[in-house]
Amino acid sequence: MKKNCKAVWENCLNVIKDNISHQSFKTWFDPIKPVKLADNVLTIQVPSQFFYEWLEEHYITLLKKTIKKELGPEGRLEYSIIMDNSFNANHPYTVKFPTAKKNTSNPAVAMPIDLNRGASKDIPNPFIIPGLKKIKVNSQLNENYSFENFIEGDCNRLARSAGYAVAGNPGKTAFNPLLIYSSVGLGKTHLAHAIGLEVKNNFPEKTVLYVTSEQFTNQYIEAVRNNNQNDFVHFYQMIDVLIIDDIQFLANKEKTQEVYFHIFNHLHQNSRQLVITSDKPPVEMEGVNARLLSRFKWGLAADLQVPDLETRIAILENKLYKDGVEMPRDVVEYLAYSITTNIRELEGALISILAQSSLNKKSITLELAKKMIDKFVKNTSREISIDYIQKVVCDYFGLPLEAIHSKTRKREIVQARQLAMYFAKKLTKASLATIGLHCGNKDHATVLHACRTVNNLIETDKQFRHYVEELDKKITL
Ligand code: ADP
Ligand code: MG
Repeated sequence: MKKNCKAVWENCLNVIKDNISHQSFKTWFDPIKPVKLADNVLTIQVPSQFFYEWLEEHYITLLKKTIKKELGPEGRLEYSIIMDNSFNANHPYTVKFPTAKKNTSNPAVAMPIDLNRGASKDIPNPFIIPGLKKIKVNSQLNENYSFENFIEGDCNRLARSAGYAVAGNPGKTAFNPLLIYSSVGLGKTHLAHAIGLEVKNNFPEKTVLYVTSEQFTNQYIEAVRNNNQNDFVHFYQMIDVLIIDDIQFLANKEKTQEVYFHIFNHLHQNSRQLVITSDKPPVEMEGVNARLLSRFKWGLAADLQVPDLETRIAILENKLYKDGVEMPRDVVEYLAYSITTNIRELEGALISILAQSSLNKKSITLELAKKMIDKFVKNTSREISIDYIQKVVCDYFGLPLEAIHSKTRKREIVQARQLAMYFAKKLTKASLATIGLHCGNKDHATVLHACRTVNNLIETDKQFRHYVEELDKKITL
């Protein structure tokens, strides 16, 4: 029977899904489209050059195995890359698999990009007045926002590593521009500074500039008023790494967008690095000129997500350590459990507690922390989180928290996991899918099954009912 490309890819995905995390699967495999199957060669379409590189670097072995399993030893994979680049947008080209080599050694991939950059490299820029290059630019970088102080977690791994790669090789990676997006308080500004600082570390001679889009706008308005727009543009055209924070504030400012567009093009053509932060991914940006938007899609858009419990604890502990203060572990954990969606708020609560305890000469206790949190963090305070439920359940049974996330089918761990799911369903607003995701990466059917099992046991098993009642008290206390 003749196999079709969709079915073959579907089978591959089923294997891949079981071998990598849900988040990685969503990020790297959901967007892939199977397009062709001919002579045992499956062609898949990937959204960008970067995507292709990432797959080759991280998933080549897995891909190879699954393809061979599906198509036999002769099976091969080819990529078709959509280039969102004006001169080759209509000519996706293919790359042969397996290459397993670094992408740059593959001329089919590297060429269009190098053409783009290389061509303008040797042409002197008519706008840069000789001597002007020596002007010292105040980079406006905040030393505290370093990579060292930026705690790594699943929530920021992609953006962080892309940022780090950019800082090691500004303007020369596929991540140009690098666009970092997230909702407020999740570390965009911090990461943007970290990139700038790291470039300065690696290449002290490079000119790095961090500006908010408001500063940029105001400078431009000022330049127009003083009739020295050219100086403004020239200044920006000599920057090696231009970081613009909160680009969303350029929305509907057409003139400012236009001048940024020109600066962007100039810098990009000259292999300078552009870093942009935004509160939305490019597809959702409104009031931004289509030409500019299409430029944003040239590089990589990476998001920062809400940090998980461990990362939140690590962020708090890092901050305490840096400031040389101590805080009981249960208070730190309580804070991390209670404030889940915004790192700035988390830090704010920490500072409030420290201030309160030093002003009133009270020692820092869990009780004080609970009071403070109720007062200062209105919405998030008393909401019970899935993380908190897991922690209470694990403590109760004397199990390590990781057990819940593990794949193990040991009876007591399965039971703890099911109880965590049951309470999450009962006490939070989270969907079955979300609960499953947080409890060992299970699907919604598993969560449903867990809730039924727990309900059955409550009715039939006295000892179990006792556990549930005690747990309920502990969680909702
Ligand atoms: P955004 O720009 O997304 O609104 P910020 O970069 O201002 O967020 O981050 C808010 C606060 O949280 C800052 O004090 C920052 O240092 C801190 N922060 C964010 N992410 C991290 C992280 N991964 N590690 C340590 N601190 C972080
Ligand atoms: Mg910010």
